[in-house]
Amino acid sequence: VNTHYPGDHTYGNAVVGDGRAAVAAHERLRDEAAAAGLGLTGLWPGVHWGDVSVTLPHLTYRDRLTLHLGEGREAELFHPGPAHTTNDTLVWLARERVLFAGDIVMPGCTPFVLMGSIEGSLRTLDRIGELAPRAIVGGHGPVSGPEVLRETAEYLRRVRRIAEQGRARGLTPLQTAREHGPGPFGHWQDPERLVGNLHRAYAELAGEPLGSPLDVVGIFGELVEFNGGVLPTCYA
Ligand SMILES: [Zn+2]
Repeated sequence: VNTHYPGDHTYGNAVVGDGRAAVAAHERLRDEAAAAGLGLTGLWPGVHWGDVSVTLPHLTYRDRLTLHLGEGREAELFHPGPAHTTNDTLVWLARERVLFAGDIVMPGCTPFVLMGSIEGSLRTLDRIGELAPRAIVGGHGPVSGPEVLRETAEYLRRVRRIAEQGRARGLTPLQTAREHGPGPFGHWQDPERLVGNLHRAYAELAGEPLGSPLDVVGIFGELVEFNGGVLPTCYA
């Protein structure tokens, strides 16, 4: 299952998707992954990516899909709407009470909603909480318990709050990021994502539809600027 489109979650399709396994994903992921191509390899040329190629999912769904995996094990896939990206999939193992969250939840890492939605992420975190999972597997970071939902929501609500303040004072997202910094979440990996998250918050405060496209490349340049001119490390 591809939980969303960026290459750190889809390049492996080339390894498992050559006839040995069927890859499933939300229907919007195919277009996004095709458009993104191998772009990440150009962004981080120093990473040893291996012999990757773009292999698109074989099976797509719109709202939900259940995979029957044998021995009574079922994996329920559902799309929560725009959250980390516009094509996220959550995977819920109801019997085991385990939730695979993709990058909507990344324990120990800064959330990143530049290509998704703050409001949508907050709604999705509530929705995951209602399932009462025993364990949550994020797209990055260690397996965690449900406490990560509250921490992630607190971060996103803070972004929204400082965006409101910065916007009211006529500051750009980058200026707002510089003024407030990552605050109590500075120990999480990739704190410079704050700049991208603020751009998303500004767009939502301006009434843009959730998940509407932003200038990702330009904003990524601002992330680098905020990070002292250094490209954030790729941990993929
Ligand atoms: Zn990721």
